[in-house]
Amino acid sequence: MSPLFNTDNVIDALRKVLPTERKISLHEPHFNGNEWTYVKECLDTGWVSSVGKYVDEFEFKLAEFTGAQKVVAVVNGTAALHIALKLLGVEQNDEVLLPALTFIATANAVQYCNAIPHFIDSEEKTLGIDPRKLSDYLNEVSLIKDGVCINKITGNRIKAVIAMHTFGHPVDLDPLIDVCQRYKLELIEDAAESLGSFYKKRHTGTFGKIATISFNGNKVITTGGGGAILTNDINLGKMAKHLTTTAKVAHKWEFFHDQIGYNYRLPNINAALGCAQLEQLPSFIEKKRKLALMYRAEFSGMDGISFFTEPEFARSNYWLNALVLDSENAIYRDELLEKTNNLGIMTRPAWTTMHKLPMFQNCPRMDLSTAESLESRLINIPSSSFLGD
Ligand SMILES: *Cc1c(COP(=O)(O)O)cnc(C)c1O
Repeated sequence: MSPLFNTDNVIDALRKVLPTERKISLHEPHFNGNEWTYVKECLDTGWVSSVGKYVDEFEFKLAEFTGAQKVVAVVNGTAALHIALKLLGVEQNDEVLLPALTFIATANAVQYCNAIPHFIDSEEKTLGIDPRKLSDYLNEVSLIKDGVCINKITGNRIKAVIAMHTFGHPVDLDPLIDVCQRYKLELIEDAAESLGSFYKKRHTGTFGKIATISFNGNKVITTGGGGAILTNDINLGKMAKHLTTTAKVAHKWEFFHDQIGYNYRLPNINAALGCAQLEQLPSFIEKKRKLALMYRAEFSGMDGISFFTEPEFARSNYWLNALVLDSENAIYRDELLEKTNNLGIMTRPAWTTMHKLPMFQNCPRMDLSTAESLESRLINIPSSSFLGD
């Protein structure tokens, strides 16, 4: 252990940034804008469900904000991932590469397609997929046959990569896109956590063939529950709309569905909430970035632990702030979690890496030492936008 490291110093630093008179949760939603007005309008007019103007408006405004050509609002981020994989033609026994260090939804969506999650290591600098390690690994385990990437060991087709922008911090997209091109892999961005985060001045979720966002209650903005599919391919966007609205062929009265579709459309009442939240997004991000600066200042000189800072190529939304203990101090993680939660400062460890969960433990994977190391020493700390006020 580093001789100068002490969990009490960490607590003191947190208390300097955070209000002390109340319990502080990890991430709270804020409804200080037009939420009441827009939701009331849905109730007053009866347009609460699968039809209404707020869905179109929410999709339009999201497209405007992110720069994506087409946005389709859906019931949640997991459903968005499911449809993204379907649209890219991921089928039974296809392998899909994704980070071991992610939220369960990323891996579950692959399994919903009867495909096989294949776990990739993270890089310390971004907390997301390490493009260089991925490249070396694919060089070792795969071959390209008739323009298709094949896993030499399992014989399965490797179809796609899902890059997840961890806690809002973009992965290093340029080298990742290069790997995807060399190995004929489709790129999906799980941008669930990165609404308002930019990679080299371009919004995350506009680099891959398809991207997904989540508007769950703990995300940067919320619709209660909700999600979106983003793409720059207009045809793919139209297919996304079709598949998520029961694959019904538009007609004045006839019910004709041309394939198995899904009832994944975002209800109008949730979209109304989303429109109001989206108006406040720039101010949420400004406050979140201020909060991150305050944390950064408190932890900058501290021994044995560091505040995770956006990579130089990124402008992050700092959705969830993270402290990372030096390796030799990983043994203090649980003590820190215990002390902070007892004091009413809600903190959480990183997710359990996917390959350690019972249903995914036999899935193919590369060496995951960085993901495992990060998992053992990362702590998320309170990140609500109001804390940056
Ligand atoms: C929140 C989240 C999702 C989607 O979650 P939903 O609750 O289904 O909206 C997917 N991936 C990641 C990384 C997430 O954080």
